[in-house]
Amino acid sequence: MNIKGSLIIFLLCDFLFTFSGCNSKQITLSNIDSQKVDSLIKVQKINERTIIVNFGYDAITAINTEQGIVIIDAGISTALTARYRKTIENIFHQDDYEYVINTHGHHDHIAGNSIFSQAKVVGHEFCRKESSERWTDPEKSMTSFYKIAEDYQQKLQQSVPNSPEWDDNFTQKIRYLSAYYDVKNHAPVILPEITFTDSMKLDLGDTTFEMIYFGKFHSNSDIVIYVPEIRTIFIGDLFSKYGRPGISDLQSTDVVKYTRAINWIGTRMNYIETVIDGHGQILSTDDLKDFNYNILNRYQ
Ligand SMILES: [Zn+2]
Repeated sequence: MNIKGSLIIFLLCDFLFTFSGCNSKQITLSNIDSQKVDSLIKVQKINERTIIVNFGYDAITAINTEQGIVIIDAGISTALTARYRKTIENIFHQDDYEYVINTHGHHDHIAGNSIFSQAKVVGHEFCRKESSERWTDPEKSMTSFYKIAEDYQQKLQQSVPNSPEWDDNFTQKIRYLSAYYDVKNHAPVILPEITFTDSMKLDLGDTTFEMIYFGKFHSNSDIVIYVPEIRTIFIGDLFSKYGRPGISDLQSTDVVKYTRAINWIGTRMNYIETVIDGHGQILSTDDLKDFNYNILNRYQ
């Protein structure tokens, strides 16, 4: 077994046993929980060579190209993403990962990067800064992840077993608990090594990844990724259904950048068939048009 294999097993073992947090209560994960995790990992097939693997709000997309597999976003934790990786390999029967592209630098999109250790990680130049700031205070992150997991544990106890609400609380509890373990165990965080300022194109033979920086919007490092050969656009957490903007802190200085990115999307609009957000939701081109309309009308 290689070092990475051992690391994953180690994380997984630790992940499955009781731990004591700074609080008096303990959250316990059993083998039954572990089986439940596997049963709630879902695969959405977009086309012959594109799949979305998701577990609640955790989602990664795998696109099989002639030069290897490209992953879009990598999930909230190494333990869960190691399971998604297995799922991908069971479907594609290969494990040659070429790139991981991060739609932005939030921890729930980059924490699983290290699971695809042979791949080069790609993202906007601000992704590195944004991500590293997140890890400067591990104690704070641990406390916050643990607290969130604990809140979901409470909600879980109040919900009807195996109802959609129960599944929701369960997946959220596991996501944050896994994130907690990563910080606790000093799991490696791989940040983008290939970065760009305005736009970038990756050519993988039969598949092209066209990327543009959106400007500061949901984060400092939001990018849009368009893959013409599969007529798919990835919009990260920029918006949700009906084009509802996922804006965090609007900086008016970026309006020029938004306009440029929206025009860039506009020139591709007639070719786009599938819109995928950063949490595994498949949106429609109407949602995309609504978003473009909202932005151009609200912020110009
Ligand atoms: Zn985000």
